[in-house]
Amino acid sequence: MEQSANAVAAAGCSMMRGGAFKPRTSPYAFQGVGVEGLEMFQTAAKAHNLPIVTELMDVRMLDTFLEHNVDVIQIGTRNMQNFDLLKEVGKVQTPVILKRGMSATISEWLMAAEYIAANGNHNIIFCERGVRSFETAYRNMLDITAISVLKRETHLPVIVDPSHAGGKAWMVPDLSRAAIAAGADGLLIEVHPHPDEAWCDADQALNPDQLNTLMGELRGIAQVIGRDL
Ligand code: PEP
Ligand code: MN
Repeated sequence: MEQSANAVAAAGCSMMRGGAFKPRTSPYAFQGVGVEGLEMFQTAAKAHNLPIVTELMDVRMLDTFLEHNVDVIQIGTRNMQNFDLLKEVGKVQTPVILKRGMSATISEWLMAAEYIAANGNHNIIFCERGVRSFETAYRNMLDITAISVLKRETHLPVIVDPSHAGGKAWMVPDLSRAAIAAGADGLLIEVHPHPDEAWCDADQALNPDQLNTLMGELRGIAQVIGRDL
């Protein structure tokens, strides 16, 4: 955790994302370290003044998240239409990253955000993370077009997760550059100090050097379109 936090801070990222509760496809895969993991994560991030983002899967953990000062709650693709969960995160003011359901249309995604907003929490960030398609050469098809549509339809920030889209670390720089060029307000990139040893999503994690190089390139692209990182 400390090595990851060092890498995130050194590359100039503004927040750190880590999962203590993991939505794994198989019940036998590593499920995360739970509350203890959240504490390890918070300690490592705070040493660098990095706000933390972490995924909430179960409404019964919401109070624990608030007690542990989670700065941003992530709702993952598998819970985008978990309406009861959306209603509950709507009743707090903690910002919510709402990832796109893996086969959700943009209007379904907007309605999911509406569940949060209708309950009083307007601090919503959309995260495009690729959609299921007929293609098998990569994990999900990154929908760059969604960035433009959401920016037209809402006033809310839109970020992109190139890691779960491509599913391979070597695709992440290309997809990240495309997202920033298309107007994304941020990126959610998977990083691990030693990707080969990661217990989850090892194929798609960048190492600290790769993150650093990518951040440098992205700064240039952002500047060209009148923004900064
Ligand atoms: C994640 O961000 O760790 C994750 C599981 O992503 P998604 O919900 O987009 O599959
Ligand atoms: Mn992941």
